[in-house]
Amino acid sequence: MRRIAIYGKGGIGKSTTTSNLSAALVSRGYAVMQIGCDPKADSTRLHTGGKRIPTVLDQLRANQDLALEDLVKQSESGVYCVESGGPLPGVGCAGRGVITAFEQLDELGAYEIIRPDFVLYDVLGDVVCGGFAMPLRGGYAQQVLVVTSGEMMSLYAASNIMTALKNFKSRNYAQFAGLVVNRRDVADEEAIIRRFCEEEQANVVGDIPRSPEVQICDEQGKLCARRFPKSPASLAYQRLADYVESLPEAK
Ligand code: ATP
Ligand code: MG
Repeated sequence: MRRIAIYGKGGIGKSTTTSNLSAALVSRGYAVMQIGCDPKADSTRLHTGGKRIPTVLDQLRANQDLALEDLVKQSESGVYCVESGGPLPGVGCAGRGVITAFEQLDELGAYEIIRPDFVLYDVLGDVVCGGFAMPLRGGYAQQVLVVTSGEMMSLYAASNIMTALKNFKSRNYAQFAGLVVNRRDVADEEAIIRRFCEEEQANVVGDIPRSPEVQICDEQGKLCARRFPKSPASLAYQRLADYVESLPEAK
């Protein structure tokens, strides 16, 4: 089992990239679980035709005695989808939803029963704190991919996340496994990213073009990797899947 967390600035394309990566891995015959760690609960919507699945927190509010199938919904695309959910806006700690969801999945033996080959954690946040750091700790994610474009604020967020990972290295946290560039086509994007990689000693492991097909799919609640499999973006998602496939398994 390989467990990978995807971080990056808000709105940079984490959920889109994670979902299409999940779809690319499923098309290779792997069992994939995608866990949305975001109170918005929209990580997995491209797997489910744009519809949202019930979140772990919502299910818990309705019923304390949950079964695994209440929390994990297998999409028509074959991905095991989970949304942690979160508190009502303005009430309580958003990261707490992630912690509760992880506890529930552990308690119900989700990883042992489903036995996914890959678990992808799609994590909200430019900051790695509170519940949003949960996927990095305690043996959840082993590796972290950071999504960025050449825009200043997304590079700033990427740098913060990478610094946090470096600082926590000795505490058995997940390790940085590379940058995924999700292009915004800003001026000199290539050179900006190259400079950033030199300064931060980072490597680019995925390069997704800005893509009209991705946007069409977003509106339709569909996966670009399935709807337009030969599009430049889908080929880039496949190359990212090649990389993710090459990552070492947990011991
Ligand atoms: P949040 O932090 O709010 O969870 P996010 O990082 O998960 O956001 P997404 O929801 O995946 O970001 O994407 C934000 C928007 O950018 C969506 O409308 C999506 O369709 C679009 N987008 C993502 N990647 C691309 C791309 N390569 N080309 C074109 N549009 C893209
Ligand atoms: Mg998202």
